Amino acid sequence: MAQETIFSKIIRKEIPADILYQDDLVTAFRDIQPKANTHILIIPNVLIPTVNDVEAEHELALGRMFTVARKLASEAGIAEDGYRLIMNCNRHGGQEVYHIHLHLVGGQPLGPLLS
Ligand code: 5GP
Repeated sequence: MAQETIFSKIIRKEIPADILYQDDLVTAFRDIQPKANTHILIIPNVLIPTVNDVEAEHELALGRMFTVARKLASEAGIAEDGYRLIMNCNRHGGQEVYHIHLHLVGGQPLGPLLS
């Protein structure tokens, strides 16, 4: 069984986080070290360590992550100017927390790559 990360504790509200949205499938909260004016993480409530572990049974939660991203971008007032959705995978992708998460980044012009 996959090892839980700090994100599981955030989902269960065992440690503090600025949670912006939660339902039966996903949780969204502000990144603790924002890389842009808006930096929100959207995660499935079920532990999926990396994109390499995605299965068909996860499709509902993965789809919900995008509808929640769209909603939160709109609420943050960044939808029209635009934003970036990023999901890092493993070491070369720069993944640090092994519970997949969609970075919603915006609120300012972004460079060609988020470093
Ligand atoms: P990764 O590099 O894995 O794609 O991104 C992990 C992200 O999680 C980083 O942007 C990091 O700042 C954020 N992060 C790590 N630990 C915590 C935490 O305890 N709380 C919150 N809100 N964000 C975290």
